[in-house]
Amino acid sequence: MIRENLLKVEENIKAACGRAGRDPGEVTLIAVSKTKPMEMIEEALACGKREFGENKAQEMKEKCDALPDDIKWHFIGHLQTNKVKYVVGRAFLIHSVDSYHLAEAIEAESAKKDVVSHILIEVNVANEESKFGIKVDETLALVEKIALLPHIRIEGLMTIAPFVENAQMNRPVFRDLRKLSVDIKGKNIDNVSMNVLSMGMTNDYEVAIEEGATYVRVGTAIFGERDYGKL
Ligand SMILES: *Cc1c(COP(=O)(O)O)cnc(C)c1O
Repeated sequence: MIRENLLKVEENIKAACGRAGRDPGEVTLIAVSKTKPMEMIEEALACGKREFGENKAQEMKEKCDALPDDIKWHFIGHLQTNKVKYVVGRAFLIHSVDSYHLAEAIEAESAKKDVVSHILIEVNVANEESKFGIKVDETLALVEKIALLPHIRIEGLMTIAPFVENAQMNRPVFRDLRKLSVDIKGKNIDNVSMNVLSMGMTNDYEVAIEEGATYVRVGTAIFGERDYGKL
């Protein structure tokens, strides 16, 4: 089933790129494997998938340490400073930095491990109270401050759009994130590339691609519904 699901999602990605006049090579599918067992990840690995997303630090650490080294792990969940040690040195990209306090913890752990951590700034575009992420009008100031940390490189922005019945309703959210990233890119800040836009999940990744996503984070459409009851 995972093979068919992956093929279907990849087909939809190509079609969305076609509609938007984009090269499918610009869009990377992250298979969000949170809560799912190793065997399911191994099945996706057998299909050639190498980019996986996890939202719990210890779970990502365990999977990362048990599975092949060539996997790129994307940390997409809220990160507490006391869990940074599990993620730095393992994550290919940390998508969810939304405070200077967290960036400082990532900087310290990265310096200790002598690595550079690649990060995205999580923006709460829709201003939802329940969500993490920095406000749109505070993002530039945060980027400028984090850009001065020598063991961190800011690659772009991430957002989690609201849960909506019709994915089209999230189009303005994706458009606003893209606009913000273009504005920040225009400032040419040292140590900041702004080439990455992580946006779009199972319900709305096609719209996100039409609006410029370079990473889409898809779990349910690949691995099926998550069962939180068992955890
Ligand atoms: C769980 C999760 C996803 C994947 O959600 P689906 O709706 O299952 O595709 C994407 N991004 C983040 C940040 C998540 O926590």
